[in-house]
Formats: sequence, structure tokens, C-alpha cells
Amino acid sequence: PLVLGIETSCDETGVALVRGDQLLVDAVASSMDEHARFGGIIPEVASRAHLEAMVPTIERALGTADVDLSEVDAIAVTAGPGLVGPLTIGASAAKSLALALNKPLYGVNHVVGHAAVDALVDGPFPERFMALVVSGGHSSLLLVDDIATDVTELGSTLDDAAGEAFDKVGRLLGLPYPGGPHIDRLAREGDPRAIRFPRGLTAAKDQEKHAYDFSFSGLKTAVARWVETRRDAGEEIPLNDVAASFAEAVADVLTAKTIAACHRHGVDTLVVGGGFSANSQLREMAAARCAAEGITVRIPPIRYCTDNGAMIAALGSAVVAAGVAPSRLDIGVDSSMPLTTVTV
Ligand code: ATP
Ligand code: FE
Ligand code: MG
Repeated sequence: PLVLGIETSCDETGVALVRGDQLLVDAVASSMDEHARFGGIIPEVASRAHLEAMVPTIERALGTADVDLSEVDAIAVTAGPGLVGPLTIGASAAKSLALALNKPLYGVNHVVGHAAVDALVDGPFPERFMALVVSGGHSSLLLVDDIATDVTELGSTLDDAAGEAFDKVGRLLGLPYPGGPHIDRLAREGDPRAIRFPRGLTAAKDQEKHAYDFSFSGLKTAVARWVETRRDAGEEIPLNDVAASFAEAVADVLTAKTIAACHRHGVDTLVVGGGFSANSQLREMAAARCAAEGITVRIPPIRYCTDNGAMIAALGSAVVAAGVAPSRLDIGVDSSMPLTTVTV
């Protein structure tokens, strides 16, 4: 079946076509340039941008793939989590298409989509795998028995998401929004062992209750203090070393806890997804440590890590293949949709 996927949870309007695990086209329009001016995403601005981009992006996707709307078998759309206004624009478009074409609608989970997209790149998933989804809004460890129907959340961040922590540290270092990619760039020229920043929730006492949870807000504060102390003393801030040492702390905790979870649950495949999985230090550390531990790691190319329509079409395709019942046409969107809810 040919699945059209629509993604509008944040600032990217994504439209993609997937058949099985084959991606036909992935069209994205971003309103990030508008948000960069404000140093953050303004939901109203994002909603309006989605509204303007929706029809042109759908047309561009169909045109590029040389597919007629009548050939589409199912519509998948992000139902949450995300910003309510933007989500509503995508859901309205998807419902209209489903109604007009008389084709089934599937409201799906954005965060699960960040893992699902990897099937388009690395092929069918194994029986059971671990998914680390790290993005601007989430840092979660998922045990996946079936991407379409059976996802368990082993742990998540108790405060900031990894991408969010990067964006906040970016702001305090005076970098443009979003800070994540800028810190990544600076870190490549720095020494990751220059400064020993704290690793959240890794103390012995956290092993019982928070073995698979993350916390990045203490780390962010530690970086802020370190920088302020030097600034107050009139010292120059070694931006490269600060960035590299901070990124090292984040990648260290993410990979260590994820690998422990793989061993604990007898899982030998790890999928890493979400906008933060674009991070070089995380990619390198995950590859090296997993290789040493006998775990196969699958991380999609960067363009499939950040928000896109392909991830939603991929999850929609898996859901259709699993025979899940379609969503009703009156589904609502859920800004804080639980990660165990794959479809609504
Ligand atoms: P969610 O998926 O939880 O709803 P989101 O959609 O806002 O959140 P994504 O678009 O998946 O998040 O990811 C964006 C985040 O990824 C931002 O915080 C950004 O700074 C971060 N990011 C992107 N590239 C990199 C990089 N190379 N290094 C570090 N962070 C990065
Ligand atoms: Fe996302
Ligand atoms: Mg985004």
C-alpha cells in the first residue's frame, strides 16, 4: 500500500510517500528562519507557516514522485506529541484528504516515528529492539516489540531533553538558535576531556529507580557556573573545550544507560533517532561502544533525524502492514501523547 505521511508537530511541514519500507519522496518546508529571529519557536508563527506550506508541499511531494492523489491508499498524520496549533493544521489536512479520497486515516505518534524512519534506510526491524529517541522535546529509551503496536517506555528525561539542554547552553554561550548544531561544530575542534562535567542520574543511589532515566538540567547549570566563573574573572572562555566536554557528558550518559538497558533486556539491536541523533559525538560514541558490546546500532542519516514526513509515512506504513484499525475522522491532537500510544 502507498502511504502519504504528514508531519506538522513543530516547525517543519513534512510530506512523504512510502510504499512498504521504500521511500518515494520526502518533501519538507521549514519555518525555522522565522523562529531564529525570536530565539525560539512561536506556535502561532509556526501554525501560520504550516497553513501556507501545506498544499504546496503536498503538491511538490506528489509531483516529485509522479504520483496521483488517487493512487494513495492511506493517510498517516502526526497526532502528537507536539504543539497543538501546528498539529491541528496537519490533522485537518490529513482528515480532509482521507474524507475526499475515501481512504483510511492513521493518527500516529511523532516520537515513535523518529525510530520508525530507520526502516526506510536500514531495512526491516528485528523482532525486538531498543530505541533511543533524543530530540528537542524528548530523551526516551523505548523497548520495541512491534513498532506498530507494542512500545514500552523504559525511561525518559526528568527535566530537559538533550536537544533542549544543547539549545540552552547554546544561548548562554551566545550562539544563534537553535544552539545544538553550533555546539556540535565547536565541539569538533575541542577536547572532550578538558572539563569533567557531571553525569546526571548515574550515582549508585539512582540505579534502582532511575536506571534508564536522564537528567540534563544539573549539567546545564554546571556549564553555566563554569562559564560565569571564568567570565567574572575576565578570563577567555575556551568555547571549543566547553562545547566538547559538555557534549561528551551528554553522549556518555545516553550511551551508557542505553547499552545497560540492551544487556538487561537481552536486546542486540539499537535504533537511535530524533533531531539530537544528528549530534556527532553521540553518533561516534554510540557506534564505538555498541561495537565493543556486540550491539548492532542503526542511526539514520541526519536528514531523517530531524522532523520530516518520511518518519510519519514510515510509521503509517508499519501500522497498515500490522493491520491496525484506522483512526476515526474526528480524532483530536494530543500535545503530550504518551510514547506507548503508537496510534490513536
Ligand atoms: P520532539 O521530536 O521531541 O517533538 P523536536 O521535533 O522539536 O522535538 P527535533 O526537530 O527532532 O525536535 O530535533 C531538534 C533538536 O535537535 C534541537 O534541540 C536541535 O538543537 C537539536 N540538534 C539538531 N542537530 C544537532 C546536533 N548536530 N547536535 C546537537 N543537537 C542537535
Ligand atoms: Fe521531532
Ligand atoms: Mg524540529
